[in-house]
Amino acid sequence: MVSYKELGLVNTKEMFAKAVAGGYAIPAFNFNNMEQLQAIIQASAETKSPVILQVSKGARQYANQTLLRYMAQGAVEYAKELGWEKPQIVLHLDHGDSFETCKSCVDFGFSSVMIDASALPFEENIALTKKVVEYAHQYDVTVEAELGVLAGVEDEVAAEESHYTKPEEVIEFATRTGCDSLAISIGTSHGAYKFTPEQCTVDPQTGRLVPPPLAFDVLHEVEKKLPGFPIVLHGSSSVPQDEVDTINKFGGALKAAVGIPEEQLREAAKSAVCKINIDSDSRLAMTAAVRKVFAEKPAEFDPRKYLGPARENMKKLYMHKIVNVLGSDGKAE
Ligand SMILES: [Zn+2]
Repeated sequence: MVSYKELGLVNTKEMFAKAVAGGYAIPAFNFNNMEQLQAIIQASAETKSPVILQVSKGARQYANQTLLRYMAQGAVEYAKELGWEKPQIVLHLDHGDSFETCKSCVDFGFSSVMIDASALPFEENIALTKKVVEYAHQYDVTVEAELGVLAGVEDEVAAEESHYTKPEEVIEFATRTGCDSLAISIGTSHGAYKFTPEQCTVDPQTGRLVPPPLAFDVLHEVEKKLPGFPIVLHGSSSVPQDEVDTINKFGGALKAAVGIPEEQLREAAKSAVCKINIDSDSRLAMTAAVRKVFAEKPAEFDPRKYLGPARENMKKLYMHKIVNVLGSDGKAE
């Protein structure tokens, strides 16, 4: 058993309470390699933003969970070295799919876990979530649960169609499970292809696809039922078109990739939404930078020469999200 407290990590309790009260959201960035982690920590340290490092089941398999834990511990020390005296860094399991997975993360130094039982019937979702909460709370680890189904694909999480969260269910769910935060479905979606062209309209000026708006009515209903309760948005990448264009210009083949407009995320961040998950955008930023180097300097074979620019591009993206979309800069001085 390793406690996250020994690693210098924090849970989400206090940072969510402040974010809800302050009308901003905490960034939750997925990571599975060193350059991505460096970029996240540099961006958070420079902007003094609390940050959630997310690890999916796929990332645990890819990078090895022991290595990931030491990377998170290293991230805390690195942040201090960068001049961030009291780093507020959470290590969070993204989309835990069973009690066993969540338990192993709690035992392994995670400060927060998500149990995603949203595909199960309501009563079973409650039972499994409650079981995880009872275990995690013994160790002061916070738990995110999910109600409603998001469409899209993200690692092993895939669903054909979304079902918006039913606001009338949230009070019962939150009360009976004791979860610390709740991921809801209001039209965000996993991956870089959040909407089919048929679901979108076309901007006559740019010819770009414009996705359907998020269901803010559902969000506001949920807020009314659970005032001040921390709400989480998954699948909230914006799929920056300049990165998609760079990828396609240098040999990529991303067709009609479309994400959530940043104005809508900004609006959500001002509400009870206090955690916004961003993964695909950083994948795009990394891929765009690497493709550019490969195309422009085909003789280059030192990984630092293409992963370095990739790291810079991801850092730029993270800082932009923190300062211009989530508003979490300066909130962890
Ligand atoms: Zn997700």
